Amino acid sequence: MRKIQMVDLQSQYEGIKDQVNTSFSKVLKSAAFINGPEVHAFQAALEEYLGVKHVIPCANGTDALQICMMGLGLEPGDEVITADFTFAATVEVIALLQLTPVLVDVEPDTFNIDVAAIERAITPKTKAIVPVHLFGQCADMDAIMDLAKKHNLYVIEDNAQAIGATHTFNDGSKKKAGTIGHVSATSFFPSKNLGCYGDGGAIFTNDDDLAHTIRGIVNHGMYKRYHHDVVGVNSRLDSLQAAVLRAKLPKLNEYNEKRRNAARKYSSAFKGQEHIVVPKTVNNCEGICDVCDCHVFHQYTLQITNGKRDALVAHLNENGIPCGVYYPIPLHRQKAYVDERYDEADFGVTNRLVDEVISLPMHTELDDEQIDFISKTVLEFVNG
Ligand SMILES: *Cc1c(COP(=O)(O)O)cnc(C)c1O
Repeated sequence: MRKIQMVDLQSQYEGIKDQVNTSFSKVLKSAAFINGPEVHAFQAALEEYLGVKHVIPCANGTDALQICMMGLGLEPGDEVITADFTFAATVEVIALLQLTPVLVDVEPDTFNIDVAAIERAITPKTKAIVPVHLFGQCADMDAIMDLAKKHNLYVIEDNAQAIGATHTFNDGSKKKAGTIGHVSATSFFPSKNLGCYGDGGAIFTNDDDLAHTIRGIVNHGMYKRYHHDVVGVNSRLDSLQAAVLRAKLPKLNEYNEKRRNAARKYSSAFKGQEHIVVPKTVNNCEGICDVCDCHVFHQYTLQITNGKRDALVAHLNENGIPCGVYYPIPLHRQKAYVDERYDEADFGVTNRLVDEVISLPMHTELDDEQIDFISKTVLEFVNG
């Protein structure tokens, strides 16, 4: 059996080697390292793939989130509601801009932000909601968009983990994750579903004015060369990264399907297990969705309900199986983000999830032998 990795970028590279190497030498020969033709070509290709009017590339996903908030003109003291159970980048940029983060609980089955909790947290100071499409599927965007409309709030999607996922609305219409809210942020960190070979990110929006504002912000607040109209940042996707992304984008659906396949196999192995909760897909699919692309499985995350999660992590590692705990501490309990306004009783789900979740190896190169071995090792231990 091949060595099991959490993410296998070496094997994935073998499949796109010729194209990446050719594009790399083209960039090296042209020396157009910044804002070269590769960046523009990738941007246009991603706009077309997503069905969104504007893709604005930038340096990483954290910058993308920050720039979304700057572009919307959020100001110190404005409250921004986001999920307690996510990667820290989401709350970090809110705090960095001196906005007030308001963390709320998530749903126990999808891990995504709890809409009833958002509603309870809205005050006259609330300006935006940041749903995080955690582990690869959209938060409840029907309800979130309705709530935002009702209270006149912006919706900024954190789409770092769900690129390529499709959200089906209650009326049956469909949109790609990241094209639903007013603006959205994504990351091309190497291990993401569409990852480059360094750092990268992008902002998506259908709003022409906002796109214009953001294009200036990413470039030192310049709309005309050496005229700085607003305080901006320096945040760019470089041409070498764009070349990798351009080679990978045509394969994104296939890559995501490979992840879904692995998820299906895992979930069928764990079906009916008393102490294991398999991830739930939102489009009311039976088990793991066979027909649509609502979930792109950035992570395949189980809940181990018999208190053996930490012991299982150790057991898997002893057997040469890497795994992850995303995330081990809720944001409201992180030193940087504690706030006396928070009440532990409001975070029942996150407080439980941090002790029960475990993410198994998930990537485009997993083979059946590896999946069987991982599943068998998990089952042996949890039932042993
Ligand atoms: C990865 C990630 C980010 C940050 O992306 P970087 O490119 O690493 O800055 C933000 N939010 C979520 C949910 C992520 O998973």
